[in-house]
Amino acid sequence: MKLRTLESVDLDKKIILYRAPYDIELKNIDGNLEVADDTRIEATLPTLRYLLGKRCKIVILTYVGRPDGRAVKELRTNPHARKLSELLNHPVEKIDDCIGSAVEKKISHMSLGDILMLENVRFYEEEMMDDDEFAKKLCRGKDLIVFDGFPQAHRMHASTTGIERHLPTVAGFYLQHEVEMLSNLLENPARPFTVIIGGAKISDKVEAIKNLLAKADTVLIGGAVANVFLKAQGRVLGSSSIEDVFVDKVKREKKDWVQEAREILQQAEILKKKILIPKDLIVSDGTSIRNIDVTVFEIPDGWQALDIEGETQKEFSEIISRSKTVFMNGPMGKFEDERFSKGSRVLLEAMKKISGTTIIAGGDTIDIARQCGKLSDYSHVSLAGGATLEFLAGKELPALKALME
Ligand code: ADP
Ligand code: MG
Repeated sequence: MKLRTLESVDLDKKIILYRAPYDIELKNIDGNLEVADDTRIEATLPTLRYLLGKRCKIVILTYVGRPDGRAVKELRTNPHARKLSELLNHPVEKIDDCIGSAVEKKISHMSLGDILMLENVRFYEEEMMDDDEFAKKLCRGKDLIVFDGFPQAHRMHASTTGIERHLPTVAGFYLQHEVEMLSNLLENPARPFTVIIGGAKISDKVEAIKNLLAKADTVLIGGAVANVFLKAQGRVLGSSSIEDVFVDKVKREKKDWVQEAREILQQAEILKKKILIPKDLIVSDGTSIRNIDVTVFEIPDGWQALDIEGETQKEFSEIISRSKTVFMNGPMGKFEDERFSKGSRVLLEAMKKISGTTIIAGGDTIDIARQCGKLSDYSHVSLAGGATLEFLAGKELPALKALME
């Protein structure tokens, strides 16, 4: 995938509509709302510094949370503007709207090198409808779009596909890097290529698992996702968390995830790929903790599988050690409880030791990775959640189309 980049256009003194990936949760610190995590802001600094170097005027557009077309005071972009200003060491002015005459007037008075943060675009219901008139208004007074909203690129909204219909668009460095690293996984991974999938819900990940199974040499499954595969193999899992059958009453549809897992296992056999499911697990009844070999024993009622155990940790780590490319999305256990975090930790340590490419993705995976060291120990940390998974599922992300050469 070849993107139109920042370096390919004349940016000198241009008014930029910067589509930022700042959909970041907010938390209350001593009565002030602050961004809960500044990784996504940090990731945009190279693009912004480059634009400042070209003496651009920068107008920043983002959505935050799900205000559903209403102005919600807890979801304003003021904390984002403050944090950006601090990290960039440059003033960032905030304006309380994203369209309209006050915004246009403000932009017409900006000086070279000024940065203006617009209000949360989701305060308008036109945003999620990709309303064309609204998108046009968002573009008014700007020369071109620099797009770094990779985590939003799977959405067809006014602030993604909408604005791209009205102004020339180039990729920012953050988006470019995500696309390059993830494309490389799909198109040209150094082998052996190992994919590790864990976490809570198979429904989030099934498309990515299927697509990656065709590309990877080995797929390792842990977390509650593994429970679905274990059930597909006929194991008895007691009171473990299993996403099995989902009935959509509105659509009158039923989704049987255990059957889906069974089909993935069959597909692996056809492709002659290895898909590894845990052999031993850490289980708990809420008070006591035990190990169990699930290939031999049943997990009793009242007991839950909460992490992968020693044999599985060892087997998975050895495969990681022999790999040239490793991708991990989803923790191996209920890591928020220290006692069930070891499986994830052991695999992350094994990843850090290899000399090849290591990529991690997913909010919780990044959390546990941060708890066991520095994020810079990995080749790439993908910050895009759902968009990352859709990209890895081989789907076309609508907002990337306008960025292609
Ligand atoms: P990511 O954010 O990295 O994509 P997910 O959101 O898919 O990861 O999954 C993370 C969640 O999965 C965590 O809250 C974790 O507690 C939960 N989880 C992992 N393994 C288990 C398990 N065996 N039983 C219950 N929950 C689990
Ligand atoms: Mg998560």
